[in-house]
Amino acid sequence: MPDVIHLLPDHIANQIAAGEVIQRPASAVKELLENAIDAGATEIKLIVTDAGKNLVQVIDNGKGMSPTDARMAFERHATSKISTIEDLFHIRTMGFRGEALASIAAVAQVEVKTRRAEEEIGTYISIENSQVTTQEATACPAGTSISMKNVFFNVPARRNFLKSNTTELKNIIDEFTRVAMAFPEIHFNFSHNGQQVFYLEKGSQKQRIVQLLGNQYNAKLVPVQEETSYLTIRGFVGKPETARKTRGDQYLFANNRYIKSAYLNHAIAGAFADLIPKDSFPGYVLFLDLDPAEIDINVHPTKQEIKFTDEKIVYAFVQAAVKHALAQFSIAPSLDFSLDPEIQSLEAIQKPLTEEKKSQAAASSLYQSFTQKGQAHLIETNSYKPWKEMHKQDEEIRQSIHTNALHAHIGPPPAGEKEGTWKSELAKLKEQFLTPSEKTPHLDFEHEHRPISREQRFTWLSDTPLMQLHYSYIVAISNQGYMLVHQQYAHERVVYEQLQKAIFGKPIATQQSLFPLTFSLQQADAVMLNELLPEMKQLGYHIEPFGNNSFVVQGTPADVEVGNEQKAIEQLLDQYKHKRNACPA
Ligand code: ADP
Ligand code: MG
Repeated sequence: MPDVIHLLPDHIANQIAAGEVIQRPASAVKELLENAIDAGATEIKLIVTDAGKNLVQVIDNGKGMSPTDARMAFERHATSKISTIEDLFHIRTMGFRGEALASIAAVAQVEVKTRRAEEEIGTYISIENSQVTTQEATACPAGTSISMKNVFFNVPARRNFLKSNTTELKNIIDEFTRVAMAFPEIHFNFSHNGQQVFYLEKGSQKQRIVQLLGNQYNAKLVPVQEETSYLTIRGFVGKPETARKTRGDQYLFANNRYIKSAYLNHAIAGAFADLIPKDSFPGYVLFLDLDPAEIDINVHPTKQEIKFTDEKIVYAFVQAAVKHALAQFSIAPSLDFSLDPEIQSLEAIQKPLTEEKKSQAAASSLYQSFTQKGQAHLIETNSYKPWKEMHKQDEEIRQSIHTNALHAHIGPPPAGEKEGTWKSELAKLKEQFLTPSEKTPHLDFEHEHRPISREQRFTWLSDTPLMQLHYSYIVAISNQGYMLVHQQYAHERVVYEQLQKAIFGKPIATQQSLFPLTFSLQQADAVMLNELLPEMKQLGYHIEPFGNNSFVVQGTPADVEVGNEQKAIEQLLDQYKHKRNACPA
C-alpha cells in the first residue's frame, strides 16, 4: 500500500485558512483598515463598490512598505508586528497574526501600490490565487493602497454564500463604524458606488460619536472617566432618554479594539437598571485601557472575543464607573447646557453627592418630614399599591392558566389605553386572529422564538363571550381551557404576518401621497435606504431618491395613517440596522 499523506499546496492551505479571517467583504474592510492604522496613517480612505463583492480598497498615508516587504506581506504568517511569543503579551497594534493579507490574496485578486516616504519610487504588485502576477516600480503617493477585487472569484461556493448587497453593505458599515469610532484623531472617508457614506474629519471622541451615530446623541452623552492603576475606562453613555428598543448603539473597546462581551454589556445595563424601561437598551461607547498583558486577544481569529485575566474586577469596575457617571448626571442634569457660570461654579453643583452629604441631608428636619410616620408631608413608598397589586394579579392569572393558555408574549399593560379603543380592537381581533382553527391553521407563535407545538394549538370557541382585563388582555375560552391574549402584542403579530406575506408575495397596496413628503437622512442611512427601496415598495412605501441624501415619499401603505411617514421610515431603518438577520439573503 502506498503512503497516503501529502502536504497541501500553499494556495489551498491559504484558502482554507482564509475561511477564518475573510468571511465576507466586511472582514477585508476591517483587516485593511486596521493595517492602515498600524501603519500610522492619519488619513484613510475606504472605497467600496457593489457592497464589497466587486471592490474593497483602502488607501492610507501611513509608513508604506519597501519592495521586498510589500511582497513578503502576502505570505502566510508574515508580520512585522511580533517576533517572539513574549511579544504577544505586549501587543499594542491591531494586527499581529500575519494572516490577513495572505488570506485576502488567497480568495481574491489583489493590487497593491505602496511607497515609503523616504523613497522616491514606489512598488506595484498584483496577486491572484496567492500568486504574484506582476511586480514593478511605480510612481505613487507615500503610503499604501490595497485593493481586493472580486472576492471569492476562485471559491464559487463561498461567493454564493454572500448575502444581498444590503446585508453585506450593512456589515461593512458596521465594521467601518467600529474602527472609525476608536480613532477620532484619524480622518476617514468612505464611499460606496461613488456615493459618500462617511466623511469624518478628525476631532474629539464626542464629535466622532455624533458623526457616526447621528445627531440624536448631540447633547445627550454623559462622559465616563475613571482611572485606576489596573484599568482606565473612558467614553460616553447615552442619557437614559436615548435608550432604544433595539440593542443598537453599544460599543465596547479594549485597548481600542472593538470587542463583544455579553458579560460587560450586562454590567453596563445593570448600571442603568432603574433609569430606563426594562425592554430597552442603553447606548454607550466605552473604552477600556489596560496593560496588554492583562488581556488575551488571541482567543479568536477575528479578535472580537477576548479574555481578561480578572473578569470580575473589570465587571465591577465598569458598572461602578457608569453608575458614578449617571449619578453625577442626575444631580446636575443641565450642566452640559448653558447654565449661568456663577451657578456652575457653586460647590453644590460641582461636587458629586457624597455619603457624608447624604447623611447630612437625611438628618435634616425637612427630609424627616417627608419620611417619618405621622408627619404632614409623608410620602409612602408603597402609595402606588393598587397598581402593584394589579400586576400581581396579572401574574397569578398568567401562572394559573399557563398550561392551557396561548403562549403569546405577555408584558405589562401599556399605560394610557382607553376603554373605548379595546372594543373595536376586539372586533378586529375576532375577525382576523381569534377565528376558529380551520381558518387559521398557523397560529403557532414562532415570533419571538417561542414555538408552540401542534398539540398546544388551540381552537377558539367562537360563540363564547370574551372578557377583557385591565384594558390589555383578552380572556377567551378555547377547546383546551382559557387563553390570555395580550391585545397589543396580538395586534402586532397580525400586522407582522401581513407584512411578512407582503415581502414574499403580493405587495401591500400603496396610496399615492397628495403632498409628497421630502426628507433627508444621515449619509450612511441614506445609502442603506437606497438599497432597501425595493423591499420598502413591497411593504407599500413608494420612496424615490431625491439626491443629496434626500428622498420623496410618493406613496404610503394604504392602511397606514398619513402624517408619520418619516418617523415610520426612520424606525424601520433603525430596526433594520440593529436586528441581526433582519432581512432574508
Ligand atoms: P498583521 O497585520 O497581523 O501583521 P497582515 O497580513 O495584516 O498581518 O499584514 C502583514 C504585514 O504587512 C504587516 O505586519 C505590515 O508590516 C505590512 N502591512 C500591511 N498593510 C500595511 C499598510 N497599509 N501599510 C504598511 N504596511 C502594511
Ligand atoms: Mg493586519
